[in-house]
Amino acid sequence: MKLPVVGYQQAESVEDAVRLLVESEGDGKILAGGQSLIPMMAYRLLTPSILIDIGRIEALKSIELSSSELKIGALVRWCDILESRSIAATHPLLREAISHVAHYQIRNRGTIGGSLAHCDPAAECPATVLALDGMVDIAGPHGQRSVPARGFFQGLLSTDLGADEIIISVRLPLWTSKRRWAFNEFARRQGDFALAGVCLHFEIDDGKFSSSRIVGFGIADSAMSLPTTETALNGLSIGDDLGRVLALAGEEIDPPHDPHAPPEYRRAIFSTLLGRAIEQALSRAE
Ligand SMILES: Cc1cc2nc3c(=O)[nH]c(=O)nc-3n(C[C@H](O)[C@H](O)[C@H](O)COP(=O)(O)OP(=O)(O)OC[C@H]3O[C@@H](n4cnc5c(N)ncnc54)[C@H](O)[C@@H]3O)c2cc1C
Repeated sequence: MKLPVVGYQQAESVEDAVRLLVESEGDGKILAGGQSLIPMMAYRLLTPSILIDIGRIEALKSIELSSSELKIGALVRWCDILESRSIAATHPLLREAISHVAHYQIRNRGTIGGSLAHCDPAAECPATVLALDGMVDIAGPHGQRSVPARGFFQGLLSTDLGADEIIISVRLPLWTSKRRWAFNEFARRQGDFALAGVCLHFEIDDGKFSSSRIVGFGIADSAMSLPTTETALNGLSIGDDLGRVLALAGEEIDPPHDPHAPPEYRRAIFSTLLGRAIEQALSRAE
């Protein structure tokens, strides 16, 4: 379908983008890579009166590493993440997750800020940022604020972001060298949105699992932490039977009823993916 008629403005700075959003009185949309927004408009699922293109704001394109965290600008694209040595060295889980996003052409345009704001339940990035306990930095008419990922994603295509606010960056704390991690998803074809996926990390102390973080995607309204499953895994020893943990995970998720797969199928896939992910993480050197 053709796009509806829509106004267009280029923002020169974050302040400019916020000003244009305020002037649009809730009817404007930020345009980043356009890989989700433009299809939504073509299907008439969104009908903004004006697109506010932030593509020229250089301040949103940097990747900065400090002694405590990695800061990724909202306009950093999937291909930038895949090429970044800082990210490969400090957050291999993020790099691995993004290698599963869509196809080459889409990875050349899609941005991390766009994915977080769009909050697709099957997207890799929100789940990974949640698993990494990231902070989302937001600018609005009343200044800047930061929201933990745990409070940012609120449901199907729904976040804590106000209509007059813009994501400017996401910050990920650095890990200790003891972290073991894995990312695993199942999609019908390479590059499709996953039917289900998991990202996790944990430490092994005295042969026992500890400090586990397990996040699923494609298995609920939005990326979902699994605290009950994490608690069940913590304290088990390497080599213990994981059957109860995997069964708990299948029960804890909340898969949608949609045409792509019935909930029972997603529960079964998710338990299998989790079991494989734990094995992968264990096989990784510290
Ligand atoms: C064929 C196809 C396959 C795909 N497969 C996958 C996949 O497997 N996994 C996956 O995760 N994604 C997939 N995508 C989506 C893709 O990754 C998108 O690029 C991404 O979700 C959104 O990023 P964007 O920069 O294109 O955002 P846009 O499309 O420009 O914007 C998306 C939404 O976020 C808002 N927005 C954008 N940036 C900001 C900001 N800085 N602050 C506030 N609001 C903002 C927009 O207003 C809009 O509502 C696919 C897309 C296509 C077309």
